[in-house]
Amino acid sequence: SSRGQDFPIVIVGHVDHGKSTLIGRLLNDTDSLPNGKVEELRASSVRRGVEFEWSFVMDALQVERDQGITVDTTRIWFKTPKRSYVIIDAPGHKEFLKNMVTGAASARAAVLVVDVARGVSEQTRRHAYLLNLLGVSQVAVAMNKMDLVDYDQARYDLVKAELEAYLASIGLTAAAVVPVSAQKGDNLAGRSAATPWYKGPTVVEALDAFKAPASAKDLPLRLPVQDVFKFDERRVVVGRVEAGTITLGDELVFTPGGRRARVASFETWAGPGTPRIVPRQAEAGEPIAITLDQDIFVERGQVAALDGTTPSEAKRLRVRVFWLGREPLKVGVRLKLKVATGEYHVTVARVLSVIDVHTVSEDKLADVVEVGGIGDVILESRSPVAFDTEAGLRSTRRGVLVQDYRQVGGVLIQGADEVEKETAE
Ligand code: GDP
Repeated sequence: SSRGQDFPIVIVGHVDHGKSTLIGRLLNDTDSLPNGKVEELRASSVRRGVEFEWSFVMDALQVERDQGITVDTTRIWFKTPKRSYVIIDAPGHKEFLKNMVTGAASARAAVLVVDVARGVSEQTRRHAYLLNLLGVSQVAVAMNKMDLVDYDQARYDLVKAELEAYLASIGLTAAAVVPVSAQKGDNLAGRSAATPWYKGPTVVEALDAFKAPASAKDLPLRLPVQDVFKFDERRVVVGRVEAGTITLGDELVFTPGGRRARVASFETWAGPGTPRIVPRQAEAGEPIAITLDQDIFVERGQVAALDGTTPSEAKRLRVRVFWLGREPLKVGVRLKLKVATGEYHVTVARVLSVIDVHTVSEDKLADVVEVGGIGDVILESRSPVAFDTEAGLRSTRRGVLVQDYRQVGGVLIQGADEVEKETAE
């Protein structure tokens, strides 16, 4: 079930630093759990002779674990007085990439969990770095397990300073560094008496202060063509409005190609005898069917937009690839690239640089992107690709790589690549 209005967040951090505990407790403290859930889990803990852990809440909710890359990741919801959130779970590095790159609802903000007793680890740094790479810039830090250090402000200050220095080095700023105990529920939904020295927001307040993305209907129009049907001697163009608003009479430009025609009618798919209430306008999120005033060639994969704000088109694309194939990615590898409704045969033409996610450094000499790795490459397509580079235009900015019917990676399109000039003369 996709609930478009939810604010998607991701909870990241070193394993064992308390992500699951924080999620369980957050759900409980915001009254987002079904009635009796915690009692049920406590009772079953007693039966099994184990001590109740808040992380059991998450385990219990994770009935449908994702198996493949295409399957939606586990979704967990909670509500605050301001809005409702969906947590995109990110247990490990590979899953994290999968979820972040291919998840339909990629995170708009993150909570980075750090165990205050153990301090900033390499994995903490790596996750922060990945957040930054993926463009998640709204980050709140939960400085967890404050109970283990007796809510000591000096210890908090020390770890906070180290973390903030690292974040600054990669261009990230934490909106808040909240001293919490996920286990005891300090400073999650309610202010804790154990940290009188802390004047900042709780975790929930920090989340509620994050900016919601610009409403998709206020963006430039993007209508990726899903299909073109012949219908009562008329050709009907079908698709879902991914961004912006489309109005009767609008002049549409179809990319690639640049052919133009006006919206002559909105069609409905109501059966015979059903009153046809034909709209004059549709906005982001709506599936539509339209006819055009001219008999131009339109096909699946093209993107309809308005003059002056059309997507770009190019055969050579610079992309950041998140690679999950079976073999390392290198020059010459052939793949299928899917962007919105378009499908393109592409070949890796160059590997520009590879990001080593373990040392979080960029290697400009590397010539392969390892499995589970991230790199900037040039893809060469047989036919022009319609794309955007603006962050808000997600449907045409992100793509998926397919090999042998399997999704093997995600891409963020960075731009067109100018073919290098022939200098050998
Ligand atoms: P995850 O791997 O990041 O999801 O970590 P978990 O939530 O599974 O927590 C790892 C361990 O730390 C568990 O044994 C938790 O009970 C413990 N833990 C989590 N949060 C706290 C906390 O605030 N205080 C204390 N003392 N222990 C905690």
